[in-house]
Amino acid sequence: MKIYNTITGKKEEFIPREKGNVYMYVCGPTVYGLMHIGNARTFTTFDIVYRYLKWKGFKVNYVQNITDVGHLTDVGEDRIMNGAKLMGMKVNDFVNLMIKDYFEDLKSLNILRPDVSPRASDHIQEMIETIKKLIENGYAYESKGYVYFDISKFKNYGKLSRQNPEYLEKQRRETHGDKKHEGDFVLWFPAPDDYPLKWNSPWGTGFPGWHIECSTMSSKYLGLPLDIHGGGKDLIFPHHEDEIAQAEGATEKKFCNYWMHGEFILINEEKMAKSVGNVISARDAVKKYGRNAVRYFLISSHYRTEINLTEESIISARNTVNKLIDFVDKVKELNPKGEYNNSIKDKINETRKKFEESMDDDFNMPLSLAAIFDLVSNVNKSIDEKNVSKENLEEVYEAMMDFDKVLAVLEHKKGELPKEISDLIMKREGCRKRGDFEAADKIRRELAEKGFLVEDTPEGPRWKKI
Ligand SMILES: [Zn+2]
Ligand SMILES: [Zn+2]
Repeated sequence: MKIYNTITGKKEEFIPREKGNVYMYVCGPTVYGLMHIGNARTFTTFDIVYRYLKWKGFKVNYVQNITDVGHLTDVGEDRIMNGAKLMGMKVNDFVNLMIKDYFEDLKSLNILRPDVSPRASDHIQEMIETIKKLIENGYAYESKGYVYFDISKFKNYGKLSRQNPEYLEKQRRETHGDKKHEGDFVLWFPAPDDYPLKWNSPWGTGFPGWHIECSTMSSKYLGLPLDIHGGGKDLIFPHHEDEIAQAEGATEKKFCNYWMHGEFILINEEKMAKSVGNVISARDAVKKYGRNAVRYFLISSHYRTEINLTEESIISARNTVNKLIDFVDKVKELNPKGEYNNSIKDKINETRKKFEESMDDDFNMPLSLAAIFDLVSNVNKSIDEKNVSKENLEEVYEAMMDFDKVLAVLEHKKGELPKEISDLIMKREGCRKRGDFEAADKIRRELAEKGFLVEDTPEGPRWKKI
């Protein structure tokens, strides 16, 4: 299979460092607020990668960190302490609440939990060890309680974003006095007295910079080189560039073989930003449109293309995924008396092949979905033509469930049919049997007004919610 590798700018054949095993790390949330729909896209993207690699038969070791220290805003304030203050909570209680919310949100989007979700604050000692190693290897220096990474010592600095270091220096927004080069970044901060998040270190009481946690925890849990490191595109610089410098500087090993980055989500053609006031939380979206609609919306475009969230685009995603769900229900419920149709079996095999070929090509989800929809219309046609057996439909159902191990959008409850509605459906069936099609049509319209669609199949009426 091929993966687009940010560091080379090319699709490359994916060869894991150990046959059959994949070691994958994805930058997780900074737990200072609810997961927004942009984070949800990133986590869903890598959930697809995780699920698909497992579907292919790999044993995947998947680590996603939880940042609960050191991730500062542009003006140097700690995001987590700010959040706790806003909520009027103790920092630790606040962090625990945010982590609980984060896991709930993953679940609400059918995102599998990573195998390990290490918290930065549980790994301060290991980070201190990494920093000591960097100083020892000549990549870092101390100055007035700060420890800086010296980017002039790391000769490939800029290799991920493929920019020269002088350009990158100007992009760096953090300014703390007394560093040797504008582009040097902080590994360790001194903490003010009133800081609740601080630890003892060889350089005084303080806390680690944000980037060091990922280098340290990914190396600890997965070993190097990582097969896949992922994250949103906004993390390429400085976060991932710095992760490489730190990990390679400290271990003198290659950090990661394949870098994957997901594109952004726009809200009504605009970038999502607190200042614009258009931030949508994952849980609000799920509440409003339903899990399968939101998840389908997030996965159905290629992960390297921007998507635009509008009322229309998400409703259209909901209609599309409902078609799939309805198809699966129908295939399960119908009990056709036709002969076994070999062409359906061939179509299933062809679909499975196309699904895998497309996913193998840098996770080309739009093409994979197109293959599935082709199967759906093919089978629907055979059902209408009564050219299908129960065994055929069982095989179709199995294939759909197999695809859904990767997609994870078909799980649903059908829900109870209100008695009023089932009575109307029976009444309409009676009209049809008597040949009173005018009355039957009238009832169909009445049902539609109440939100139920009745479809006549060779085996009698089926209903679905509109
Ligand atoms: Zn990270
Ligand atoms: Zn169902």
